[in-house]
Amino acid sequence: AKADGRGVFRFFERQMDEAVQRKQALKAGLRGALDRAELELRYQPLIGVEQGGITCFEALMRWRHPHLGMVPPAEFIPVAEESGFITGMGEWALATACREAASWPAPLRLAVNLSPVQFRRPGLVRAVAMALSDSGLMPERLELEITESVLLGEEEANLAILRQLRDLGVRIALDDFGTGFSSLGYLLRFPFDKIKIDRSFVHGLPDREDAKAIVRAITGMGRGLGISVTAEGVETPGQLGALRKKGCSEAQGYLFSPPVPASEIPALFKRLRPS
Ligand code: C2E
Ligand code: CA
Ligand code: CA
Ligand code: CA
Repeated sequence: AKADGRGVFRFFERQMDEAVQRKQALKAGLRGALDRAELELRYQPLIGVEQGGITCFEALMRWRHPHLGMVPPAEFIPVAEESGFITGMGEWALATACREAASWPAPLRLAVNLSPVQFRRPGLVRAVAMALSDSGLMPERLELEITESVLLGEEEANLAILRQLRDLGVRIALDDFGTGFSSLGYLLRFPFDKIKIDRSFVHGLPDREDAKAIVRAITGMGRGLGISVTAEGVETPGQLGALRKKGCSEAQGYLFSPPVPASEIPALFKRLRPS
């Protein structure tokens, strides 16, 4: 039994070593990833729940590592945030996506994620303004997605940045709504244009009473506050039906399309026409 225990211990030790090594490899690789053009963007459509048709695309970052293959953002974004690389990567994503979106037919919108780390660096507002002016994308067609963690800490300073972004004419969306500690409080502090219901709530639709109650509460609140409500992670027609009944305005998920390269956008337009 003793030998077994040691074996198990060694096993975990090796696993931890591997995890630490992988993280170090990712960190080292991320340093030049942008310059080596290893970063790519995928675009996932948002669909109008009532009328159908694409209303917006969310840009999502991908990293094609030369040896490790595609590294998922859930793994490399935290590393990029720790090392500070996320600022340059995020600015690249913003500029690239705006250039892409400038050729889409109006009033189609573009959504871009902002990391809390990126948010706290000086120069964010300038970078957004530059991405808009360089691309010619109308500000009202750009939506910046933030999570409530952006507002943690120096709340007044962060609210001031949100107001400056808003003054540029862009829309601000509160992402992963309902998963944090104080999502509701933030709705009183800043007039968000949109909230995105986290997919953990959508998952329980259409059958679970608790999920239905939560989604009903969020859409009701959105209506009361004049904030549009999007659901993410929509995978089944049953979930879409429940969201429609609750008055959700947009839906996003594998039911319609996974995130795709920009070259596949024209085909998506044909397939996902308004009804
Ligand atoms: P997020 O902003 O909540 O993005 C939605 C995630 O859900 C995406 O994962 C998307 O591919 C995935 N998804 C979409 N539809 C479905 C569905 O029907 N079912 C399921 N199970 N998942 C679905 P992805 O692309 O792996 O990105 C993960 C997270 O990484 C994002 O979550 C976001 O927080 C972060 N991220 C991605 N790109 C960027 C970026 O350019 N900048 C920053 N700061 N963060 C990013
Ligand atoms: Ca998002
Ligand atoms: Ca989200
Ligand atoms: Ca999420």
